[in-house]
Amino acid sequence: MALEYVEEYRNPELSRQLIGQIRALSRKNIRLMEVCGTHTMSIFRNGIRSVLPETISLLSGPGCPVCVTDQREIDAFIRIARRENVTVATFGDLLRVPGSESSLEKERAAGRDIRIVYSTFDALEIARNHPDRNVVFLGVGFETTAPTVAASLQAARAGAVGNYLVFSAHKQVIPALFALMDMESLAIDGFLLPGHVSVIIGVEAYRPVFEKHGVPSVVAGFEPGDILDAVRLLVNQIETGAPALENAYVRAVTPEGNAKARQLLADVFTPVDTAWRGMGMIPGSGLAIREEYAAHDAQKVLEIPLEPASEPKGCRCGQVITGQMTPPECPLYRKTCTPMNPVGPCMVSSEGTCAAYYRYHR
Ligand code: SF4
Repeated sequence: MALEYVEEYRNPELSRQLIGQIRALSRKNIRLMEVCGTHTMSIFRNGIRSVLPETISLLSGPGCPVCVTDQREIDAFIRIARRENVTVATFGDLLRVPGSESSLEKERAAGRDIRIVYSTFDALEIARNHPDRNVVFLGVGFETTAPTVAASLQAARAGAVGNYLVFSAHKQVIPALFALMDMESLAIDGFLLPGHVSVIIGVEAYRPVFEKHGVPSVVAGFEPGDILDAVRLLVNQIETGAPALENAYVRAVTPEGNAKARQLLADVFTPVDTAWRGMGMIPGSGLAIREEYAAHDAQKVLEIPLEPASEPKGCRCGQVITGQMTPPECPLYRKTCTPMNPVGPCMVSSEGTCAAYYRYHR
């Protein structure tokens, strides 16, 4: 489609046309996975599941940053918050995520200095204004947010803000896609690839996964028309037996991505093996802070090792994240686990699948 303005992707008539095309194309039962929390919320908010033919199932994958963060990292954040002379700066989503024994929200209620920020540069400003305290920004998320963290580390080094530290728990999408494809229990016919991440890494970053596994893959935007168009392309690929790597978000995503942001990532971070909730250790899927920035690496400066941690009892978040279970299949869903009293991170985050089901699914 060659539409120019974002409003056009919200046009009900366009959606009706796309739904008609999808219905006309769809024959087999297929399972598509979205690998982006913003897609999950948009799909639910716009009722997209309910307008698709019954042959098409949409599953949520590991696309919610807070949800995929390993429990040992959540516990490490809490241990940092308990340190003397430390201020923790974080995006709001992390606050209520339950750790093994506590949460940042409980720690804040107990008097720890934990502040919600809206950008990494807010955290840097706090560090500038409080040179007597270590200010630790909790770096959680994918390639979308990691460049802004990298930029703040460069600014901290250039401005000699020695008390600005970052705990890097960032994750990279491509190694996770490889890991997903290696899971025997995963039966996926196509990927709805994440729009925001793709703005940074570009469509061609997915080529190695596509070439190895040949799974239909389409980069999608976030408006109803964007998502329906991507589903239409995926259904067409599957029904015609012609898998491809396509871009349905050309107004924002290029083949090569954002070269400046990618360079920022390469300058400040280096790939490292890291554990994902529900998926275990995935080689090269994390972003560690390079040695040149070690003076700003919270894990090194504060000597915070990752320690064994226990998952919330009864929580099936790991299975939800990997598309092996839907939230209503979790015995705790809507009973002991609700947004007011979340047992696991998938019910906490605004991008969590359990939270999306709770809010929109009947
Ligand atoms: Fe975990 Fe709650 Fe989701 Fe169940 S409903 S998987 S307990 S977050």
